[in-house]
Amino acid sequence: MTRFLVRAAVLLTALGTLATGSAQAAGLERLYILNCGEGVAGDISRWSPGVNVGQSMPFVDNCSLLKHAQGWLLWDTGVPDAIAAVPDGQQPADPKATHWYRPQTLASQLAALGVKPADIQFVAVSHTHGDHIGNVELFPQAMLLVQQAEYAWPSPNNTPRFKPEHPVMKLDGDKDVFGDGSVTILATPGHTPGHQSLLVKMPKTGALVLSGDAVHFQANWDNRRFPANNVDAEQTKASMERIAGILAKEQATLWINHDKAQRDRLTMAPGFYE
Ligand SMILES: [Zn+2]
Repeated sequence: MTRFLVRAAVLLTALGTLATGSAQAAGLERLYILNCGEGVAGDISRWSPGVNVGQSMPFVDNCSLLKHAQGWLLWDTGVPDAIAAVPDGQQPADPKATHWYRPQTLASQLAALGVKPADIQFVAVSHTHGDHIGNVELFPQAMLLVQQAEYAWPSPNNTPRFKPEHPVMKLDGDKDVFGDGSVTILATPGHTPGHQSLLVKMPKTGALVLSGDAVHFQANWDNRRFPANNVDAEQTKASMERIAGILAKEQATLWINHDKAQRDRLTMAPGFYE
């Protein structure tokens, strides 16, 4: 009897592992991290009011390219490729903000991987700040995945945030992109009205949450700090707690988009995660 119970337990465990494994592996095959900008923040307290006032800090900007059996998805598009041709980079209007450089274009990094812009099926952007939407129109045919709240957010000069003719799926909350649970857009508003993050479940690497700008760097995550100019402080705090809950539930790792120290430890394209 005992032996039977042990065997049954082993079988059930194996079935459970299989079920979990197949859900995680589904169709997601690879994730490439692309260099979508490097810069220097003039005064880091812009992102952590009252803390480290007057100190500058290096920033990075990532894009992530996901290869799924059903197609390619690009997460964020980074600083505009045109900045790569400007030796002095993109000087911010406010000297406390980030001075961005583009060591490599997005287009050249895709070409090096043998991926044509027309191959990209989905472009999802975390939000509509310039260091995230700089190259959306490199992919005029790609389906944009963006929150309705972000799409409709009036811009300072009242021009549309995206070209009206660009194909778009306007979201109202989370979205399981490929229907297999491997790539899920998470609504994490606060930094902007329709800010979103991305939960990916890799077959070998495991679960990751790509932050977008729900948080800007590790110290801000550890201390739950955020910039004064986030559009909604309460939503920002709630979104950070939401992400913390998902990290615990999914045993996921948080990849913080602008955190240089973290990116320095990660494998950039042409290397990849699977
Ligand atoms: Zn940003």
